[in-house]
Amino acid sequence: MRSQDYDRLYLSPPHLGRHELNYVHKAVEDNWVAPAGPNLAGFEADICAATAAAHCVALSSGTAAIHLGLILLGVGPGDEVLCPSFTFVATANPILYLGATPVFVDSEADTWNMCPERLREAIEDRITQGRKPKALLLVHLYGMPARLDEILAIATEYGLLVLEDAAEALGSRFQQQPLGSFGKVGVFSFNGNKILTTSGGGALVTNDAELAQRTRFLATQAKDDAPHYQHSQVGYNYRLSNILAGIGRGQMELLEERVKRRREIFAWYREHLAGLPGLRVALAHEPAGSRSNRWLTTILLDPQETATTPETLRQHLETRNIESRPLWKPLHLQPLFATAPMYGGHVCADLFARGLCLPSGTAMTEADLRRVAEAVREGLRG
Ligand SMILES: *Cc1c(COP(=O)(O)O)cnc(C)c1O
Repeated sequence: MRSQDYDRLYLSPPHLGRHELNYVHKAVEDNWVAPAGPNLAGFEADICAATAAAHCVALSSGTAAIHLGLILLGVGPGDEVLCPSFTFVATANPILYLGATPVFVDSEADTWNMCPERLREAIEDRITQGRKPKALLLVHLYGMPARLDEILAIATEYGLLVLEDAAEALGSRFQQQPLGSFGKVGVFSFNGNKILTTSGGGALVTNDAELAQRTRFLATQAKDDAPHYQHSQVGYNYRLSNILAGIGRGQMELLEERVKRRREIFAWYREHLAGLPGLRVALAHEPAGSRSNRWLTTILLDPQETATTPETLRQHLETRNIESRPLWKPLHLQPLFATAPMYGGHVCADLFARGLCLPSGTAMTEADLRRVAEAVREGLRG
């Protein structure tokens, strides 16, 4: 480690509690060092309890969970899947794994998530072209609930099954109900930068017992019910390790605490960055009855009011050894998806041009927050 790394402020580093090691220790002691064992069952039960889902399957990543989720919804070669453009690439990569095509939909300005109007436009246009989408992949970016009531009504109207990518939204709620529990299938990530982590890991939740059973089957090489190795379908090696599930159990004990702290950090930035010309802390408004886990605090710069751009500000923070990151670059602007259909586009393109994510890790102290705020103020003065 270089000496300057000691005081580096990262965007969203892992934050462990006191009990993770107990679960890991027990797994090693009992020889459950495998993608099976009591920590897996315990971790899945914890996730069910926190998300009000009937069934949970712990998997090796959120991406693996989205891949299996799309298979459960029947997505295959040549199909089209509705998906927001404004998200991390891991949302849409599994669509490509299956030989299907994403149909991208723009964001709306309040939640930054899928715009219901553009969604309806996209569905109707695809139907006119004789290509009714197979499924709807919905994302809750930065923990903020999408406009679920409108989007679910549209999905019902057109008979579309919904997969909720709640990778960034563990602990968030919409009308008091946990995110991840609204679609046919919900997905969480426990990657190192998420609100809780197992270093790498994911989970699929559903209320459908058959789908849960099928997920376990597909995630463990799709072995048929026979004493020998018998296979009639393509399978995957996507199960989480019992060791990592032990870390997950320790982390799940902390969910409410971590959400509370992320929300405090968001509120702190909002208070202390108020009134700076051309800068505002974004996503200020949570829909009534909703709770965002405030995974990352984000800011927007207004080019009419400040000459500072997100990139010059990011570089300035870097000189103070503070990590910040641009918002997700919209997928319709990525070379990988150059030929995918897109409905709307300037809302998310504008957010990308104007936004920046600030360090939001739950281990941050008041002094850390002051350091970021001071560096932001300096950066804005230019
Ligand atoms: C992190 C993330 C994923 C992927 O999760 P992994 O566990 O890293 O595979 C998917 N979608 C979104 C929106 C994410 O932020």
